[in-house]
Amino acid sequence: MLAPGDTIGILGGGQLGRMIALAAARLGLKSFILCPDKDSPAFQVSAGHICAAYDDFAALEAFARQVDVVTYEFENVPLATAEFLAARRPLAPGAKALATTQDRLAEKSFVRALGIETAPFAPVDDLASLEAAVAAIGLPAVLKTRRFGYDGKGQVIVRPGEDLTAAWHALGRQPAILEGFVRFEAEVSIVAARRADDAFAAYDVTRNVHREHILHTSTVPAGVSPETERAARSIACAISGALEYVGVFAVELFLVGRGAAERVLVNEIAPRVHNSGHWTQDGAATCQFEQHVRAIAGWPLGDPARLGPAQMTNLIGEDVHAWHKILAEPGARLHLYGKDEARAGRKMGHVNRLRDGEGC
Ligand code: AMP
Repeated sequence: MLAPGDTIGILGGGQLGRMIALAAARLGLKSFILCPDKDSPAFQVSAGHICAAYDDFAALEAFARQVDVVTYEFENVPLATAEFLAARRPLAPGAKALATTQDRLAEKSFVRALGIETAPFAPVDDLASLEAAVAAIGLPAVLKTRRFGYDGKGQVIVRPGEDLTAAWHALGRQPAILEGFVRFEAEVSIVAARRADDAFAAYDVTRNVHREHILHTSTVPAGVSPETERAARSIACAISGALEYVGVFAVELFLVGRGAAERVLVNEIAPRVHNSGHWTQDGAATCQFEQHVRAIAGWPLGDPARLGPAQMTNLIGEDVHAWHKILAEPGARLHLYGKDEARAGRKMGHVNRLRDGEGC
């Protein structure tokens, strides 16, 4: 268990690392970041940092010496890096969560083995297995790389009558999976936390709207049935238990069917704090970043209760130029990431709007 004054090591220096560091600071903990990007937003708010590649083992050794626990803000931490660090300091979440979630085939097989529904899927390693997968699953379908996909990158939709060779080449002939196309009513997610002793706390299900494959808004309540809320919680609880997970994570879900037929399918597990949980900073009794710090520190989990209806809107690229106007808006809470250049598609900040009730 950590004590106030101890240091959290964070791999990755983006906005998620920055917000973990800010939450840690409020609880009297220090943060130390390792990130290869010299302009990392998290460097601005931490006690120290090392600017080095994730496979620079001398740098990792020095990093480990500075910290009491190691966590990460992105899921593509190389496994060799995770294992190297785990041999020196407690790593939370552990390497099992990384190994499972870095590969879509391993991830979906793991979820299915727990008896939890996903879209139908099949492995694709070459054109012949793509043809076999199409025969089994049907079209339309989504062809996704097994590794390193995010925000819609590394995937192509294959429609009826389309040339499979073209789709296979468009994806770069990499190990992939073919997934049945889900005609969902909405995309929702659940953000939750687990401690090593199995303590578990989940936030309310969040409804997510994307624009150009990037999250645009997250809204609570999500407008799902109480049964769906309960189902999402038990899915999150089962997944985190099976992963022996420590920390905050998100499960991205497809909401399908209406009325009594409403249910959720798992799309993806994010082994980290998540953009769809940013509303908790102002809309929940304990925000996801503090919750993550508590979980990895071995401290009691905080109350995840929602304080009222809330909506988070991402400020992407030039959206951030509205910062002054947002500051003047009653009930709007502005969060900026300290990034210099408002490039197209770049997450620059977000705003939480509390539609009723009070924030923390
Ligand atoms: P992913 O990288 O798996 O999170 O996919 C990015 C986005 O593509 C999702 O948020 C969905 O909007 C869409 N998508 C992914 N998989 C499917 C699917 N099997 N059926 C329909 N839409 C999908």
